[in-house]
Amino acid sequence: MFRRIRTGDIVIAVLVLLPLVIAWPGSRLLPGAGAGAVLGAWGQLAGVLGLSALLVGAMLSVRLPGLDRWFGGLPRIWTLHRMLGFSAFLLIMLHVVLLALGALPVSPEMAATVLFPPLDDGAVWIGWGALVLMVIFLAPTFQFFGRPHYQRWKRLHLLSVPAFLLAFMHVVMLVEHAALWWALVIPALGAVLWRKVLSPRLGRHDYTVEAVTALASNVVEITLAPRGRPMTYEAGQFMYLTPHDPDLKAGRGEEHPYTIASAPGEDALRVGIKALGDASRALQTVTPGTAVQIEGPYGQFFERREPQRRQLWFGGGVGITPFVSGARTLKREPGSGPDVTLIYLANRPERAYYMEELREIAQGHPHFDAQIHYFQERGPVDEAFIRSHCPDLEEREIYICGPPGMVDHLMGLLTRAGISRGRIHTEAFDFL
Ligand SMILES: Cc1cc2nc3c(=O)[nH]c(=O)nc-3n(C[C@H](O)[C@H](O)[C@H](O)COP(=O)(O)OP(=O)(O)OC[C@H]3O[C@@H](n4cnc5c(N)ncnc54)[C@H](O)[C@@H]3O)c2cc1C
Repeated sequence: MFRRIRTGDIVIAVLVLLPLVIAWPGSRLLPGAGAGAVLGAWGQLAGVLGLSALLVGAMLSVRLPGLDRWFGGLPRIWTLHRMLGFSAFLLIMLHVVLLALGALPVSPEMAATVLFPPLDDGAVWIGWGALVLMVIFLAPTFQFFGRPHYQRWKRLHLLSVPAFLLAFMHVVMLVEHAALWWALVIPALGAVLWRKVLSPRLGRHDYTVEAVTALASNVVEITLAPRGRPMTYEAGQFMYLTPHDPDLKAGRGEEHPYTIASAPGEDALRVGIKALGDASRALQTVTPGTAVQIEGPYGQFFERREPQRRQLWFGGGVGITPFVSGARTLKREPGSGPDVTLIYLANRPERAYYMEELREIAQGHPHFDAQIHYFQERGPVDEAFIRSHCPDLEEREIYICGPPGMVDHLMGLLTRAGISRGRIHTEAFDFL
């Protein structure tokens, strides 16, 4: 995922490191400054870096269609967001430990006072408040207590806002360069404000459920018609869908990500949805005619550095949806583009949701071939099967979307077969 440095990565690195450069303690880190002074200075730097990582992480929660391209897609932004959150937590813990160790050469009482000063020393206690909130909102993310319920986790995650505001107050009460911290905290707050308050009102498109078509048990394709400004998108992108059907048993008003299965330029927008939990199960019986809102598009799964290179697609289970969009796009542009081979990895025939349509498209398109592999019949897919349908494997750009186990299996198999990782692009339907 991080094989290539993107423009967004550079912006993030500058924003995170800038406070460090400005707050650099200079002479306190020189040899001869004394162990206590050096430890104290490193402690301060850890705090500075921890807070800048926390604020930049908050900025990355913004979710603006188009902006994610600077980072290589929204899933990659989330990975960065998690990495920054995790680093912020470790650095802030280190900040506390190093400050105490820095005071230890004076006396153990001094070390204790640095950490726990008299109650009227508000700045330090405000810092403790920020740290306690961080522990509460980050613990479920790191799955200390097992896999959290997604919606509850999301609500708990809102504690990050008071956490970073308290950490901000702590730092402006204690150090110089307040203007710098204001310059970081304002965009961080703006990002959360956009995401939670403004985007649901200004950033979404209104659609109506036109039809719900069963593809298999627990899998439907929902067709959506625009009620106003339609969303423009590319094959392989995804969106957030918020249904408002008053009869829905679960998930009403909740946003969930789904890959767009229709082709760009179609009048209607289509999504294939498998029941994987409460909200997606309820959507199987969403009422036609009811309103939904969509936000996006996000991602750039089919981003290509060499558009003329032949492609090999692997879709597993409901992870076939970006390739359905890709195949429907090819159907609208017959005769164009490089050769594409799709290998659909399904458990058994009833779980190969779009296979009939994909075969039909392949029959009518000179550059598209669709093959199926049934796990129940043949076990895990192997190199011989892939090569029998795609002998020029090494020459292709490879795209994989499906359950994490399938993605890992294919990544191992392809890299062992000598395919460079830079040629392999993956998308997982799981963000936590
Ligand atoms: C980029 C992307 C594209 C996807 N495309 C499709 C698709 O085309 N078809 C399809 O059937 N499914 C798709 N999914 C999966 C779909 O989003 C989840 O199945 C759905 O959100 C589950 O919600 P639930 O309440 O039914 O289940 P839950 O039991 O609440 O969730 C099951 C798991 O889904 C994930 N999840 C739940 N809600 C969200 C959310 N709002 N944001 C991110 N992850 C969440 C969590 O990892 C959670 O543990 C996609 C997911 C992602 C990340």
